[in-house]
Amino acid sequence: MKKIDLRSDTVTRPTPAMWEAMMHAELGDDVWGDDPTVNRLQEVAAEKLNKEAALFMPSGTMANLTAAMSHCQRGDELIMGDKSHTFRWEAGGVAVAGGIQPHLLPNNPDGTLDLDAIRGAIRADNIHFPRSHAIFLENTHNNCGGVAIPPEYFASVREIADQNGLMVHLDGARIFNACAALKRPVTDFTQYADSVMFCLSKGLCAPVGSILAGSRDFIYRAKRTRKLLGGGMRQVGILAAAGLIALEQMVDRLVEDHTIARTIEAELTKLPGLQVPGMSMDPNAVRTNMVFFRLLDEVPIEAGDFIARLEQEFGVQIGCVAGRLFRLVTHYWVKAEDVSMISSAFRSVLESAGP
Ligand SMILES: *Cc1c(COP(=O)(O)O)cnc(C)c1O
Repeated sequence: MKKIDLRSDTVTRPTPAMWEAMMHAELGDDVWGDDPTVNRLQEVAAEKLNKEAALFMPSGTMANLTAAMSHCQRGDELIMGDKSHTFRWEAGGVAVAGGIQPHLLPNNPDGTLDLDAIRGAIRADNIHFPRSHAIFLENTHNNCGGVAIPPEYFASVREIADQNGLMVHLDGARIFNACAALKRPVTDFTQYADSVMFCLSKGLCAPVGSILAGSRDFIYRAKRTRKLLGGGMRQVGILAAAGLIALEQMVDRLVEDHTIARTIEAELTKLPGLQVPGMSMDPNAVRTNMVFFRLLDEVPIEAGDFIARLEQEFGVQIGCVAGRLFRLVTHYWVKAEDVSMISSAFRSVLESAGP
């Protein structure tokens, strides 16, 4: 049975062009700066984001932590959303490894942080207080439904940061999805951030890796932090080769994933027993490659059984967010012709569950 894996875009495997490039990659010791393929990827990425320099990272999690630790001292405070990936899904790294205190603000349903709340969170100079040092923003915003936040918002946060001497980091794990959905070049976003992270390993299909970009001085410090965290890798051009293909060939096609996500969403909306999107989401927010839905309480099936039956009987894999809230993520390996299989799988499981 063919598997249709909608649990995340992290499940993407390399494309044939990536396998080919990995096979023939020119390699060297990247801890010494000797890997030509890594060096090329870093140059291409920096140029694309219009930053002075970039660094290949083993993961987005390490890239965010490296950014936090390269911007902040121990005891500094980092303003971030209570639904941010860094706060929820990165094992508390900024606190554990960085000695940095997250200052949480509630994320609005559109993924933003209230501008007045940001102003209010910035500490005065007082020995009782931690020092506010940076603001972490996320785009697309994963836990707010994969919504794309327009560049104008980042311009407003930049202004507040400049008025208060704060750094801005953009967790742009899926920034190219935001670009595709809003039809804006990536530099429209990156111009407002001191540092930017994006994942090569999600919708862009590379097997491993993220990019951290910023000023030459920031990347110099980040390189030491990456080493400290154990992220200095040797002949890693074998992975960077796939990353180059990701940037060359996989960015412009992301819009196809969004179209398929909306088609799946429209199909699920027709089914009784499901509430789509099933969570509070800004109705005007621009959506990308994620579909959320809730299995209504009146459908007499446990969330775990629902997932298991979709997979075992139809090969359709989906993710559970919490309770009866589920998430589907589209990516390169989910094709338009899979949509009818997905919707009939859902229909079958719902019908046989009753009532
Ligand atoms: C996936 C993700 C990360 C972390 O990336 P990993 O490579 O999985 O460590 C960070 N931020 C956001 C918004 C993400 O979606």
